[in-house]
Amino acid sequence: MTEPVAAPLMLGRDRALFGEAALAATGLVYLLTVDPHDPRAWAPSCPVKAVTRLDCPACGGLRLAHDLLHGDVHAAVYDNLFLLVTSPLLAYQLSCHWRALRAGEAHRVPPALAYALAGTALAWMAVRNLPRWPLKPRRGAPGLFLTA
Ligand SMILES: [Zn+2]
Repeated sequence: MTEPVAAPLMLGRDRALFGEAALAATGLVYLLTVDPHDPRAWAPSCPVKAVTRLDCPACGGLRLAHDLLHGDVHAAVYDNLFLLVTSPLLAYQLSCHWRALRAGEAHRVPPALAYALAGTALAWMAVRNLPRWPLKPRRGAPGLFLTA
Protein backbone atom coordinates (compact mmCIF):
# COMPACT_ATOMS: atom_id res chain seq x y z
CA MET A 1 0.00 0.00 0.00
CA THR A 2 1.33 3.42 -0.91
CA GLU A 3 1.36 6.41 1.36
CA PRO A 4 -1.07 9.19 0.41
CA VAL A 5 0.70 12.12 -1.17
CA ALA A 6 -0.13 15.50 0.26
CA ALA A 7 -1.62 17.86 -2.29
CA PRO A 8 0.56 20.85 -3.02
CA LEU A 9 -0.56 23.95 -1.17
CA MET A 10 -1.00 25.87 -4.39
CA LEU A 11 -1.00 24.77 -7.98
CA GLY A 12 1.19 26.64 -10.44
CA ARG A 13 -1.71 28.61 -11.87
CA ASP A 14 -2.88 29.54 -8.37
CA ARG A 15 0.60 30.79 -7.56
CA ALA A 16 0.66 32.83 -10.77
CA LEU A 17 -2.77 34.26 -9.99
CA PHE A 18 -1.77 35.01 -6.40
CA GLY A 19 1.46 36.63 -7.59
CA GLU A 20 -0.37 38.85 -10.07
CA ALA A 21 -2.98 39.81 -7.47
CA ALA A 22 -0.28 40.57 -4.89
CA LEU A 23 1.64 42.67 -7.41
CA ALA A 24 -1.52 44.57 -8.37
CA ALA A 25 -2.43 45.14 -4.70
CA THR A 26 1.08 46.40 -3.95
CA GLY A 27 0.88 48.79 -6.88
CA LEU A 28 -2.51 50.08 -5.77
CA VAL A 29 -1.29 50.69 -2.23
CA TYR A 30 1.77 52.48 -3.60
CA LEU A 31 -0.38 54.68 -5.84
CA LEU A 32 -2.77 55.41 -2.98
CA THR A 33 0.07 56.67 -0.81
CA VAL A 34 2.54 58.19 -3.29
CA ASP A 35 1.75 60.89 -5.84
CA PRO A 36 3.57 60.15 -9.13
CA HIS A 37 2.99 63.80 -10.15
CA ASP A 38 5.62 64.71 -7.59
CA PRO A 39 9.00 64.56 -9.34
CA ARG A 40 10.58 63.38 -6.07
CA ALA A 41 8.35 60.27 -6.01
CA TRP A 42 9.82 57.08 -7.38
CA ALA A 43 8.27 55.92 -10.62
CA PRO A 44 9.71 53.76 -13.37
CA SER A 45 11.08 55.72 -16.31
CA CYS A 46 9.52 55.21 -19.70
CA PRO A 47 12.09 53.76 -22.13
CA VAL A 48 10.30 55.27 -25.15
CA LYS A 49 10.37 58.71 -23.54
CA ALA A 50 14.03 58.28 -22.57
CA VAL A 51 15.05 57.44 -26.13
CA THR A 52 12.68 59.60 -28.21
CA ARG A 53 11.61 62.31 -25.74
CA LEU A 54 8.05 61.56 -26.89
CA ASP A 55 5.17 60.43 -24.68
CA CYS A 56 4.33 56.81 -25.49
CA PRO A 57 0.70 55.61 -25.45
CA ALA A 58 1.08 54.55 -21.79
CA CYS A 59 2.93 57.59 -20.43
CA GLY A 60 0.91 59.07 -17.62
CA GLY A 61 -0.60 55.71 -16.70
CA LEU A 62 0.65 55.81 -13.10
CA ARG A 63 -0.54 59.39 -12.69
CA LEU A 64 -3.89 58.33 -14.20
CA ALA A 65 -4.23 55.43 -11.75
CA HIS A 66 -3.29 57.70 -8.85
CA ASP A 67 -5.85 60.31 -9.84
CA LEU A 68 -8.60 57.74 -10.40
CA LEU A 69 -7.85 56.11 -7.04
CA HIS A 70 -8.30 59.55 -5.49
CA GLY A 71 -11.48 60.29 -7.46
CA ASP A 72 -9.94 63.05 -9.60
CA VAL A 73 -11.35 62.19 -13.03
CA HIS A 74 -10.60 65.68 -14.39
CA ALA A 75 -6.87 65.27 -13.74
CA ALA A 76 -7.05 61.73 -15.17
CA VAL A 77 -8.26 63.16 -18.49
CA TYR A 78 -5.06 65.20 -18.66
CA ASP A 79 -2.86 62.27 -17.59
CA ASN A 80 -3.76 59.86 -20.38
CA LEU A 81 -7.09 60.12 -22.18
CA PHE A 82 -6.46 56.94 -24.21
CA LEU A 83 -5.90 54.78 -21.14
CA LEU A 84 -8.84 56.41 -19.39
CA VAL A 85 -11.21 55.61 -22.26
CA THR A 86 -9.88 52.09 -22.85
CA SER A 87 -9.47 51.15 -19.18
CA PRO A 88 -12.87 49.37 -18.94
CA LEU A 89 -11.89 47.24 -21.94
CA LEU A 90 -8.43 46.60 -20.52
CA ALA A 91 -9.92 45.69 -17.13
CA TYR A 92 -12.34 43.31 -18.84
CA GLN A 93 -9.48 41.66 -20.75
CA LEU A 94 -7.51 41.35 -17.52
CA SER A 95 -10.48 39.69 -15.81
CA CYS A 96 -10.76 37.27 -18.75
CA HIS A 97 -7.05 36.52 -18.36
CA TRP A 98 -7.44 35.81 -14.66
CA ARG A 99 -10.52 33.64 -15.25
CA ALA A 100 -8.69 31.64 -17.91
CA LEU A 101 -5.62 31.32 -15.70
CA ARG A 102 -7.82 30.09 -12.87
CA ALA A 103 -9.34 27.48 -15.19
CA GLY A 104 -5.91 26.42 -16.42
CA GLU A 105 -6.56 27.69 -19.90
CA ALA A 106 -4.77 30.18 -22.11
CA HIS A 107 -6.40 33.54 -22.71
CA ARG A 108 -6.07 35.07 -26.16
CA VAL A 109 -7.09 38.59 -26.99
CA PRO A 110 -9.14 38.46 -30.20
CA PRO A 111 -6.79 39.47 -33.06
CA ALA A 112 -9.15 42.16 -34.38
CA LEU A 113 -9.26 43.76 -30.92
CA ALA A 114 -5.48 43.54 -30.54
CA TYR A 115 -4.90 45.21 -33.92
CA ALA A 116 -7.51 47.87 -33.21
CA LEU A 117 -5.95 48.67 -29.83
CA ALA A 118 -2.43 48.76 -31.29
CA GLY A 119 -3.50 51.05 -34.14
CA THR A 120 -5.42 53.34 -31.82
CA ALA A 121 -2.49 53.46 -29.42
CA LEU A 122 -0.12 54.51 -32.21
CA ALA A 123 -2.58 57.18 -33.39
CA TRP A 124 -2.91 58.36 -29.77
CA MET A 125 0.86 58.60 -29.48
CA ALA A 126 1.03 60.73 -32.63
CA VAL A 127 -1.77 63.05 -31.50
CA ARG A 128 -0.62 63.50 -27.91
CA ASN A 129 2.84 64.58 -29.05
CA LEU A 130 1.55 67.34 -31.31
CA PRO A 131 2.94 70.66 -30.10
CA ARG A 132 -0.48 72.17 -29.44
CA TRP A 133 -2.13 69.12 -27.90
CA PRO A 134 -3.91 70.62 -24.90
CA LEU A 135 -4.13 67.60 -22.56
CA LYS A 136 -0.63 67.50 -21.12
CA PRO A 137 -0.22 65.61 -17.85
CA ARG A 138 0.48 67.85 -14.92
CA ARG A 139 3.92 67.59 -13.43
CA GLY A 140 5.34 69.16 -10.36
CA ALA A 141 3.15 70.79 -7.77
CA PRO A 142 -0.49 69.67 -7.68
CA GLY A 143 -2.75 72.02 -9.58
CA LEU A 144 -0.03 73.09 -11.98
CA PHE A 145 -0.53 72.12 -15.60
CA LEU A 146 2.74 72.52 -17.43
CA THR A 147 3.03 72.17 -21.15
CA ALA A 148 6.73 71.33 -21.29
ZN1 LIG B 1 5.83 56.11 -21.87
